[in-house]
Amino acid sequence: MIEVKNLHKKYANTEVLKGISLEFKSGEIVGVVGENGAGKTTFFKCLTGLENFEGEINYNSGILKNEIGFLSSEPYFLSKITGKEYLQLLCTARGINIKDFEEKNIFDLPLNKYAENYSTGMKKKLALTATLLQNNNIFIFDEPFNGVDIQSNVLIKEVLLKLKSLNKIVILSSHIFSTLTETCDKLYHLKNGVIINSATKENFATIEESMKEQTLSKKIDSLFN
Ligand code: ADP
Repeated sequence: MIEVKNLHKKYANTEVLKGISLEFKSGEIVGVVGENGAGKTTFFKCLTGLENFEGEINYNSGILKNEIGFLSSEPYFLSKITGKEYLQLLCTARGINIKDFEEKNIFDLPLNKYAENYSTGMKKKLALTATLLQNNNIFIFDEPFNGVDIQSNVLIKEVLLKLKSLNKIVILSSHIFSTLTETCDKLYHLKNGVIINSATKENFATIEESMKEQTLSKKIDSLFN
């Protein structure tokens, strides 16, 4: 279990996360929703140890950063490194030896080509594959469905459900609400660095409603008044 207690994050004088407290349990898929700038990526970076913060993040089963697979919303690759070399590098970092990467190439990526030349969706699929091959216990996926084709979307949903069945902790963000309702056990609505609503599966509609209310309706009305 990961327990987050009163997490605050500031960039210069601007407070971006304002006292986040929640828990992530094994075997649960948790979605974080919120408009652009709400603080989702910053929150994920605090969890993965990429950003410092105030407050507490406690993990009861080991060293958190050694067990997290983080898929960033825009994965970055060193130049002149092939897809296969990237996977090799990340597996070696965790002491994992894989003989045949083609066998594990679930997204049919051109593993012998340079990763920096992959399309946006292919980059995402490569980075996602690496987190899976690392055999992590915790997965944080920032916008995994963004820019990815329909077939891969279906595959990613199946991967999420498989990770749940393997009792992993899975945390993700998505702007495509249906991808969350189909996979998540719990949703948190983040707005301006504060969790303003949370719901379990039977109440997901309330989150969707509150998101629409908070963002869309007033703006559209103002356009036509
Ligand atoms: P989201 O992922 O929900 O779109 P972010 O976490 O990326 O939101 O951003 C939250 C806020 O923090 C935004 O106002 C953004 O401009 C700001 N922010 C993010 N990263 C930095 C940074 N490195 N320096 C300063 N401000 C940042």
